[in-house]
Amino acid sequence: MSFVGCDMAVDLGTANTRVYLRGQGIVLDEPSVVAINTHNGAATAIGSEAKKVIGREPGNTVAVRPLRNGVIADFEITQRLIRYFTLKVHRRRWAARPRIVVSVPSGITGVERRAVIEACAQAGARHVHVLDQPMAAALGSGLPVHEAAGSMVVSIGGGITEVAVISLGEIVTAQSTRVAGDVLDDAIVQHVKKEYSLLLGERTAEHIKITIGSACQPELNERIEIRGRDLVSGLPREVVIPATEIRTAMEGPVNAIVGAVKSTLGECPPELSGDIIARGIVLTGGGALLHGLDTRLRNETGIPIHIADRPLDSVALGAGKCVEDFQALQPVLRTRPRR
Ligand code: ADP
Ligand code: MG
Repeated sequence: MSFVGCDMAVDLGTANTRVYLRGQGIVLDEPSVVAINTHNGAATAIGSEAKKVIGREPGNTVAVRPLRNGVIADFEITQRLIRYFTLKVHRRRWAARPRIVVSVPSGITGVERRAVIEACAQAGARHVHVLDQPMAAALGSGLPVHEAAGSMVVSIGGGITEVAVISLGEIVTAQSTRVAGDVLDDAIVQHVKKEYSLLLGERTAEHIKITIGSACQPELNERIEIRGRDLVSGLPREVVIPATEIRTAMEGPVNAIVGAVKSTLGECPPELSGDIIARGIVLTGGGALLHGLDTRLRNETGIPIHIADRPLDSVALGAGKCVEDFQALQPVLRTRPRR
């Protein structure tokens, strides 16, 4: 049996976890959600099965997103998530004790980092290496991180937006904000509640954002039918909402994301700014797919914006590169943002 064949990379995202196996690529992609039985604390479902439960929980079940805001809100549940996913991809080949490269939100604390390492070790890893998500995203988007030239990557996930400038294999300057996909969804929930007295589930709000949400002025007559629960009567009700309204509802969080990009540019050493103007900014993470966000950023910064080829996969692919070529990429595994 080949030991190295089992080495793996884990993208522990606030919305989705992805697992990359050496030589195979991404083999698992599931929501970072655990459904817990409140009576005995047992996990009743993990991943895709658990996401279906969100907003539909029967009385004795809660669906937990342990990484929701880009921090580890619940150690123990995060550990279960890691253990479950790593065991799921490895099935019976576990005896090989693989090397794991795990990519974590850059804002987590030292204690949380150690908890993740511990969880991977408990799941059977021989060695655990931690890679900051902005570095993984940059590697996975194909940015030349080792060159003596500045690259900027903006990674918009579910719980966190991370903006980083990378040069010579290091994060030169970085910012993160909790304004990301979840906050956009919540802005839609709040708007519909206020203007239509209708309560929406978070999954419905996410669906609205993905189908019709925009960071730029959308087509004038686009609209969407949405269903929720009337706040007053308590009965199910349907309304039709124009896309322009959804755009306005998301304006605050979109501005915050644009602001994080601008202020990171403002902290960037001038030589690196020059490189970024020439090469452009790479957008990645699921939020990079928000309609019109690239145009909006281009208009506001005057810099070319490129959406990564596989924005949802770039962190896992970047961490996967470290697994494929461990020697060459070992230096980036020690990278810490300088704040
Ligand atoms: P994380 O790294 O935090 O796990 P992901 O990179 O997997 O997050 O992205 C998930 C986020 O991207 C969710 O908030 C989801 O709603 C959002 N998202 C996915 N596809 C789209 C899309 N087409 N338009 C806008 N947002 C999207
Ligand atoms: Mg991610």
